[in-house]
Amino acid sequence: MLIPCRVVLLTIVSWWMCLVPGSGAGVAEWKAGVAKARITPDEPVWMAGYASRSGPSEGALVDLYARALVLNDARDRRLAIVTLDLIEIPDSLRDLLLGIAMKNHGLRPEQVLLNVSHTHGGPMVSAKTVADWGIDPVWGDRADNYVRTLVSRVDQLLGEAIAGQRSATVGYSHARCGFAMNRRLPTGGGFRLGPNPDGPVDHDVPVLRIDGANGTLMGLVLGYACHNTALGDTRQLHGDYAGFAQRKLEGDHPEAVALFLMGCGGDQDPAPRRNLQDAEQNGLALASAVEAGMSAAPLNLEPVLSSSQEQCALAFSALPDRGELQARAQSGDGFVSRHARWILQQWPNPGDQPADYLLPVQVVMLGQRLTLVALGGEPVVDYSLRLKRELAREGSPVWIAGYSNRVNAYVPSRRVLQEGGYEGTEAVIYQSLPCPFAGDVEERIVESVRRQVSAAWGTVLSPSQ
Ligand SMILES: [Zn+2]
Repeated sequence: MLIPCRVVLLTIVSWWMCLVPGSGAGVAEWKAGVAKARITPDEPVWMAGYASRSGPSEGALVDLYARALVLNDARDRRLAIVTLDLIEIPDSLRDLLLGIAMKNHGLRPEQVLLNVSHTHGGPMVSAKTVADWGIDPVWGDRADNYVRTLVSRVDQLLGEAIAGQRSATVGYSHARCGFAMNRRLPTGGGFRLGPNPDGPVDHDVPVLRIDGANGTLMGLVLGYACHNTALGDTRQLHGDYAGFAQRKLEGDHPEAVALFLMGCGGDQDPAPRRNLQDAEQNGLALASAVEAGMSAAPLNLEPVLSSSQEQCALAFSALPDRGELQARAQSGDGFVSRHARWILQQWPNPGDQPADYLLPVQVVMLGQRLTLVALGGEPVVDYSLRLKRELAREGSPVWIAGYSNRVNAYVPSRRVLQEGGYEGTEAVIYQSLPCPFAGDVEERIVESVRRQVSAAWGTVLSPSQ
């Protein structure tokens, strides 16, 4: 059978058998370092996420942050998790961040997990997005200026986290939190955006806690699968519910840095949502769930780490025919006509087909117990529900993050593609994708995960496992 995903990066560590008494491997322990840097733009910028905004940002409601956790296992295998209170990771930003991670810190791409909270209260981070949205190019220059500062701060952040590494223990626990609601509402003939209390959700809140040798809580990583859109299209910068959750946890644990890892929330919205109070309350609910998770004894993770990454090639469906595109180009609807003109320019000949989209799929194993899968894009909740079910092993938790490493496209499941609606179909015009993905998108991604998990576990997973 043809393997649809191209393996570009793969490192697997399978040496833990050496870590037995008398093996000469020394004391087996984690080294951990955390750091946090303010990344709020210092000048007005065009904000990302809502097309309804008619002007630039007007100061900050809550500061935005980048946070880092750098873990080394007992054999000095390293993983850096960097979380950003931003909406997306376009290719340009990903390349810059991975560039400095490699050049200045010796981190290969599979050793870096970049994740964005998907706040709709942050800046646009590429001039291309500004242009694609038909906004004055002056704001594209501002976006590029901002990104230069951002990259330099992340560079410093990584340096700080690495320099501050010290002996630590790493534990996993989890809890539940209920404000995420499915947002695909059946209309009889299709689906529209709206709260759907009967749709699938994932209310799991996975928590990783990092404690220093003196027992001090140094770091927390918390996950949740829900759009970070509790607050509406205000023009003040903010990190939305995830920003409030991180702030609450760091306030209650002043020596800790709390990193929010966005899950498969592509089709999930907070409920309630729209006002500042909604964002604050949802943030408090999430922080409370994290505390609830930590109130139980964590699963202690041995200092053994592996990480791998593939660029999973996702095919597009056929482009619309030229007559349809020309009609759209003349439609007078800004997004629709700009998008159609772009397709006609990029793929001018009948039969032209866009190249596959490369979605990063990363698998991290911690302590031979915790499997952390980080998917690119905005995956819908079907991915976390399916992968957690299929990868389940007794006593070995599975954590599925989305919004990682390259984030500029919805990632629908087969079901969501077939149903139609916003995610993966109507939204392509806002994300500068030529057209929806082909119908096998879910199988390609699941196969990539399965292949990497099999390699990490040292066993072959059968399709039904
Ligand atoms: Zn989104």
